Amino acid sequence: MQNYDAIVIGGGLGGLVAGAKLAKEGKQVLLLEQHNVPGGCATTFKRNEFTMEVGLHEMDGLYDETDPKQRIFKDLGVFENVEFLKLPEFYRFKNHRVDVVVPDDAEQAIELLTNQFPEEAKGIKKFFRKIFAIRKEANRTVPLWCRRWKFDILMPIFPAIFPHLAFNSYATLGKYLDSIIDNEDLKLILAANVGYYHDDPYSMSLIYFSVAQGGYYKGGTYIKGGSQKLSDYLAKVIKDNGGEILLRHLVTGIIVENNKAVGVNYKENRKNAIHIMNAHAKVIIANAAIPNVVDMLPEKNKQAKKVKNLQKACSLITIYFGFNKEPKALGNKHYSTFVFDDSINTLQDMPANFRGNFADRNYVFVDYSQIESELAPAGKSVGVICTIDYLSDWENLSSEEYKAKKSQVAQIYREKLEKLIPGIDKEIGWCEVATPKTIKRYTLNPHGTVYGYAQIPKQAGPFRTRIKSPVKGLYFASAWTNPGGGFTAAIMSGWLCANEVIGSINI
Ligand SMILES: Cc1cc2nc3c(=O)[nH]c(=O)nc-3n(C[C@H](O)[C@H](O)[C@H](O)COP(=O)(O)OP(=O)(O)OC[C@H]3O[C@@H](n4cnc5c(N)ncnc54)[C@H](O)[C@@H]3O)c2cc1C
Repeated sequence: MQNYDAIVIGGGLGGLVAGAKLAKEGKQVLLLEQHNVPGGCATTFKRNEFTMEVGLHEMDGLYDETDPKQRIFKDLGVFENVEFLKLPEFYRFKNHRVDVVVPDDAEQAIELLTNQFPEEAKGIKKFFRKIFAIRKEANRTVPLWCRRWKFDILMPIFPAIFPHLAFNSYATLGKYLDSIIDNEDLKLILAANVGYYHDDPYSMSLIYFSVAQGGYYKGGTYIKGGSQKLSDYLAKVIKDNGGEILLRHLVTGIIVENNKAVGVNYKENRKNAIHIMNAHAKVIIANAAIPNVVDMLPEKNKQAKKVKNLQKACSLITIYFGFNKEPKALGNKHYSTFVFDDSINTLQDMPANFRGNFADRNYVFVDYSQIESELAPAGKSVGVICTIDYLSDWENLSSEEYKAKKSQVAQIYREKLEKLIPGIDKEIGWCEVATPKTIKRYTLNPHGTVYGYAQIPKQAGPFRTRIKSPVKGLYFASAWTNPGGGFTAAIMSGWLCANEVIGSINI
């Protein structure tokens, strides 16, 4: 029986970074991934000559020297092996009243928005001051949130050292914007991309929003050739350092002895595979969704139950397009365009819109032809339309009904895209819809969520699920744990997890 230092369940970004760091530190790592490629949401797939980007629209923070990814990527050699492309702006916001391009630089954004909304100058400045103050404190404290004992020791003096975090722990984005800004369009502009984190500004943790949004206002990034390049590179780091990766292998159980996680049961992920294998390790790191991990524990080890029933985040629906002509050749000028429906007048209208008809739902169009993405041959390009969605929109349908509904949705969004960029419809060479059900199938994430537990104040920041689970020897590294969902946060979770494992256990 092979014994490892660490077994990683799942090859999403959190699992890959944790595995890569541990392998690089000389630990024996086994990573088991149920899909046939590593990466989870950070993958690509081929359709004819088009490389479709599954998840990444933009990654935040890479151009901020205080961003934790700087250190992580340097340590793992990412910068020498993966190419990052700086995006031209944050996003364009468009509704039937305003059409504005928000720069990815705070000073420029303040100037532009102040010119457009001069009566709101004070509120605009306050908004940017606040998000950067929170981001600064959060980047210093995230490692502490993961360690309960250190955090508990600091608790009494926390407000004195980290006032912005302490006094905004329960704040939501919506309420905060209401308190500093009157103009509803301006609030919509500032919160246009809230769907990158959550589906309702009035339950969105101000802390989490600020940390990530502050990073985007330092410049957004895309990965040349697609996010699969990053995932493949991290997998290579594991293998080059003596680790093993078994793709198409599904973990079915966690072995617990004397109250400590000591191994996993797994099998090949193919139809009719019944042979269950097992492997043992000093620590088990779960990149798989926490609610599923709890179900993998033996019945009597359900002390992790309390983390199982927390509120889960929303999912997304994506319409993938392969274009025979670049959208920029048809006059589109922006990388991300958020298009808001005419029925949206205030931030309060957003949650109902995300649960309403697809025909009226706000969406973002991402045009990869605006950068040298290398996702398609010269002169051609790919793009996506993406919006918030829920598994419940797709459950209880026969396979015929499911297919028919996907075609209807594709048609709706093709028409919307044609309205946004006239002449584009006849240039569509490939169109395919991925629903929350698709995401669930490829990641096994409950509800098809891509952000783990919802970033509501009581589940965000210092209150988010710890990296060290209540079961000895079992750790989490994913969007479900600290700090949360998205590329940056999943990468950080893997890094923090690996360091916690190295630091607290002599493996
Ligand atoms: C359409 C879309 C757009 C997005 N856009 C952005 C964006 O622009 N910017 C951004 O920052 N983030 C974006 N995200 C979110 C981001 O991709 C995710 O939050 C992040 O990648 C999640 O990483 P993770 O480590 O939690 O793992 P996941 O990606 O959830 O992967 C988990 C992995 O574990 C494997 N697994 C699960 N259970 C088992 C098991 N029992 N045995 C073996 N393997 C198992 C799965 O197969 C999967 O590979 C987007 C996501 C999607 C889907």
